Amino acid sequence: MIIFKFGGASVNSVDRIRQVPVILRQFAGEKMLVVISAMGKTTNALEKVAEAFYSGHREEALQLFAQIREQHLTTAKYLLVKNYLAAEAQLKDFFTEVEWLLHDKPVRDFDYYYDQVVCVGELLSTSIMSAYLAESGIGNQWIDVRDIIRTDANFRDAAIDWDVTGRKVREELLPLFGEDDLVLTQGFIGATSDNESTTLGREGSDYTAAVFANLLDAEGLTIWKDVEGVMNADPKQFPDARLISELNYDEVIEMAYYGAQVIHPKTIKPLQNKGIPLFVKCFLDASLPGTVIHNKSLKGLPPIIVLKPEQVLVQLHSKDFSFVGETGTAGLYALFGQVRVKPNLIQSGAVSIQVCLDDRPAKVERLALAAADLFDVVVERGLTLLTIRHYDAAVLGRLTTGRKEVLRQQTMETVQILMH
Ligand code: ASP
Ligand code: MG
Repeated sequence: MIIFKFGGASVNSVDRIRQVPVILRQFAGEKMLVVISAMGKTTNALEKVAEAFYSGHREEALQLFAQIREQHLTTAKYLLVKNYLAAEAQLKDFFTEVEWLLHDKPVRDFDYYYDQVVCVGELLSTSIMSAYLAESGIGNQWIDVRDIIRTDANFRDAAIDWDVTGRKVREELLPLFGEDDLVLTQGFIGATSDNESTTLGREGSDYTAAVFANLLDAEGLTIWKDVEGVMNADPKQFPDARLISELNYDEVIEMAYYGAQVIHPKTIKPLQNKGIPLFVKCFLDASLPGTVIHNKSLKGLPPIIVLKPEQVLVQLHSKDFSFVGETGTAGLYALFGQVRVKPNLIQSGAVSIQVCLDDRPAKVERLALAAADLFDVVVERGLTLLTIRHYDAAVLGRLTTGRKEVLRQQTMETVQILMH
C-alpha cells in the first residue's frame, strides 16, 4: 500500500488536474490511497464565507459562496464529458448543504460554523477528481473521509480518535480496495461522533495522509508539491536555495517548528512511529528525485534558513523591578493560550521577558493589553526573524551584515536573530 497526497497547488487549475492521472499511471498495479486538498485558494475563500456569515452578512456570504460554486462547476465542465452530470449532482448536494446553513442564524461559536463551511472545499475537489480519473480510465473509489476520521469536537484544531479511526479504516476503508486499486479521499477534515464536521488545522492534509500511512502500515507516503522537494531555504526569498535530497524525521520536525513551510508539523510523528519513509516530489516533473525523509542520522546538512518577516517584539518588564519569577512566567504562558498566539522566540531574564510573535495586530494588541496587568509593556514592530540551523560563520555574516540586531538566541545547532 502506498499513500499519495496532492496539495491545493497541484489541483489549482484544469492543466494541473490533468497531470494527476499521468502521475498515477506510473504506479499502476499498486494499491494506493490518494488524499487531496481543496483546489488552490478555496480554503481561504471559504474562510471568508464563514466570516461573513458569522458577522451577520448573509447576502455577502451567499455571494462569496456562489463564486466558489461557479469556479468548481466550471472546472468540472472543462474536465468532464461522460461523467459530468453525475459529478454535478454530487457537487450540488454539497453546495446545498452549505447554502442551507448560510440561511440559518449563528447560535453556536464561530469555530463550529467555520468547520461546517470550510470542510466542503476538499469534498468538492475530490468529487471532481474522482469523476475525472474514472473518465481517464483510472477506476477509483471515492469516500467521504468524515466517515473514517473520527475526531473530538475541538473545532478548527480537532484531535483524532485513533481507536475509532483505526477500526473504521479496517472495517470501512480497506474493503474498498477489493473494488479498485485506488481509493480517493479528502485531507484536513473529519467528524465527531455526532457527525459534525471538523477540521484538523490549516494545511492539515499532509497530516491526514500520514495518519492513513500509519494506520494502513503503508510502504511510503509521497507528498506531491509544486517544488522540486525540500529546499534549504524558500526559493522565493533565496534564489540560490538548493534541494536537500535526504533528511531525517527529527530535522524536519525542527524545520517545521522554526517555521519552514515544508510540511505540516504534525505529519512526521505518525510516520516516524512506524518508520514509514516520506517522499516529497514535484508533480510537474515526476522524474526528478525529490527528497526522502526517513530515520537515518545525517551528517553534513547544509545551512537551513528560515526568514520570517512581519515580526513584533513584545518587551515585558516587571512593574516594580521585582524578579519575574515563576508566577510572572506562568501568567504569561497562560495568556498565550487565551489569546491563541504561538511565540516564535522567548527570552527571559531576571526582570524582563522578551517575546517575538507574528504581527497579527488584533492578537498582539490583546496580548499587550492583558499583559499590562503584570508588566510594563513595549511593542516594537517591523522586524524580521532569521533562523539558521547548521549555521557557520560565512552564512551568518552574509545574512546579517548591515542589519540592526535586536535579539539573538544561539545553540550549537541553531541560531535565531531578530533584526530590523
Ligand atoms: N485545504 C486546507 C488548507 O488550505 C488543507 C490543506 O491544504 O492541507 O489549509
Ligand atoms: Mg494547501
